[in-house]
Amino acid sequence: MAEERKVLLRVENLRKYYPAHSQGLWPVKEFVKAVDDVSFDIYEGETLGLVGESGSGKSTVGRQLVALEKPDGGSILYRGTDLVKMSDRAIREIRREIQMVFQDPNSSLNPRKHIREILAEPMLHHKLVDKAGLDKALQELLDLVSLPRNTLGRYPYEFSGGQRQRLGIAKALSLQPKLLVLDEPVSALDVSIQAQILNLLRDLQKELKLTYLFIAHGLGAVHYISDRIAVMYLGKIMEVATGTELFCEPRHPYTLALKSADPLPDPARRGGLDIVLEGEVPSAVNPPSGCRFHTRCPYAEASCRTDVPPLVAVSNGDIPHLAACPVWQRQREARQ
Ligand code: SF4
Repeated sequence: MAEERKVLLRVENLRKYYPAHSQGLWPVKEFVKAVDDVSFDIYEGETLGLVGESGSGKSTVGRQLVALEKPDGGSILYRGTDLVKMSDRAIREIRREIQMVFQDPNSSLNPRKHIREILAEPMLHHKLVDKAGLDKALQELLDLVSLPRNTLGRYPYEFSGGQRQRLGIAKALSLQPKLLVLDEPVSALDVSIQAQILNLLRDLQKELKLTYLFIAHGLGAVHYISDRIAVMYLGKIMEVATGTELFCEPRHPYTLALKSADPLPDPARRGGLDIVLEGEVPSAVNPPSGCRFHTRCPYAEASCRTDVPPLVAVSNGDIPHLAACPVWQRQREARQ
């Protein structure tokens, strides 16, 4: 399977720092290190889940992939081309292929426009359809997201939360993307509606051969939809593995803590260990030295306060399992 996988998007050493206070007359000395040296691959046709608490930097990563924010360092290679280095003009066509679905669909649905206008504008602007073919293209879009054909003459406020999210997905699909960045697309919805949207996303992925980056703060929905999952904490990636390995054999204490916080139907899959996280995520202005998780990690040793643990392969499977915690590895082997 490994040799068949093609990298669609490669993120290398991505960095985003925000000034910690308004600039005024004095030079900024403190920065919020929202994303700090983050690297990962997304393979064609897969769903990579990106999970972490608020403030982990996961949404900032997503916003940089769709050019809503400019990185301060690193590269974003889409089919081998570095999007960070391209001019706005040159990047236009490639950007069309990477679209975002927001947690709040209202962010992409202009409340003063009919749905017809909202969905037609991007298609006409990018010349994906001409006026003669527009009605057919709009009907096909609505069919894809299972919305009735009388939707086009209405305004966004006339729809329920779940229907608005279907419209947000339709708007992203109107540009015929290859990669969708799904930023907490079901977090604001009722549980029953969440399942419908997740199933819709799975069906669309199969039908349109889409690739997803699925961002969420809890492991539940991410596990349901993702092939692989990357876990972020305080601007850094802590672990990357297939969904099954991450749940059955997590190799980082922070993943274990997220798992412990998530009610799972089968307690046997918890792996016997639980970590209850205490306290808040430390400030990203002055993150802990060494391993950023050491202030909350029950397994921390003295070296964790000074040594930054690298993200390295911890198993030899076809799909690498990466983790940034040599200490727990060692303690775990000693326990076995
Ligand atoms: Fe915990 Fe140390 Fe591992 Fe960090 S490196 S997760 S502090 S044991």
